[in-house]
Amino acid sequence: MTVQASPSARLLEGAPIAAEIRARVASDVAEFAGAHGRPPGLAVVVCGRSAPSMVYLERILKACAAVGIESQFVDVPGDDSAAQSAQLTAALHRLNADSSVSGIIVQMPLPPGIGLRVVVDAIDPLKDIDGIHPLNAGLLRLGYEGFVPATAHAALEMLEHSGVTIPGAEAVVIGRSPVVGMPVAFMLVKGGATVTVCHTKTRDLAAHTRRADIVIAAAGRPGLITGAMLKPGAVVIDVGINVVDGRIVGDVDFESAREVAAAITPVPGGVGPLTNALLLAHVVRAAQRQAVERTAAPGVGGAS
Ligand code: NAD
Repeated sequence: MTVQASPSARLLEGAPIAAEIRARVASDVAEFAGAHGRPPGLAVVVCGRSAPSMVYLERILKACAAVGIESQFVDVPGDDSAAQSAQLTAALHRLNADSSVSGIIVQMPLPPGIGLRVVVDAIDPLKDIDGIHPLNAGLLRLGYEGFVPATAHAALEMLEHSGVTIPGAEAVVIGRSPVVGMPVAFMLVKGGATVTVCHTKTRDLAAHTRRADIVIAAAGRPGLITGAMLKPGAVVIDVGINVVDGRIVGDVDFESAREVAAAITPVPGGVGPLTNALLLAHVVRAAQRQAVERTAAPGVGGAS
């Protein structure tokens, strides 16, 4: 008996692309260490430890070790916001001035009472490998090279690596946050797509998604996008990470969407592994840029 398979989307898995990126990073790290006598370094700053963020951070540290990047945790403990903000600022200034630290990430979300502004005001843009500093955000906005948030970079890398044509495509981004939605939208515009950004005030989300060749879901709402909301043949990148009944799911109802889309990322296993690998690539790029700057201006340290 032959079973008729229903049409099903191509699965865009992150792991094989991430493995390629990590291999390239490992070789770049070895080359950098050979030339400069030490490997690139990453500092991960944590304000108050919560279980899920610790799992994510431990994964980053393990990934660093696997490619030869030195990494360290910098703990900013305490429950008094003012004191913790001051300690966070001091920690960032110290890391800015430490030439063994090439890249800095601060685990988000910050505890209530500590504004993003504290990080933005203190972090050296040359070490801001997750692209939160206004200089990097501004460079992206103007179409220049800076550091872009790793998750946004991962969404674009997934499209490019999978052979999706961006120039001329109708793209809909769901989410307008500074770390995911907006950087993805700017990168798509730069790539030549016509981009619509949807958010909580969008009146008819389905009307937008139904005409999109590329849908990027970054809302943090499980099951927000269903197959009925997609144009047949669309490419769907699901950035969402939500925990439902103890399972991790995206923003897209995978089962209905895969029947309509041409290609779709799974959650977990899609954008997540790529984000992690690209963060490592950003650390190496930061180290290389700082080495060039040090050669150009010996004795000049990072902003503090
Ligand atoms: P956020 O909460 O800052 O922003 C969510 C955005 O979605 C907002 O702009 C909001 O307007 C929009 N939105 C929410 N509900 C909506 C709805 N019903 N209709 C239309 N728009 C809606 O979140 P974020 O930091 O941008 O993260 C977005 C998602 O991406 C989250 O699920 C987060 O966990 C995930 N994430 C994934 C990675 C990764 O590596 N895969 C990394 C960072 C964040």
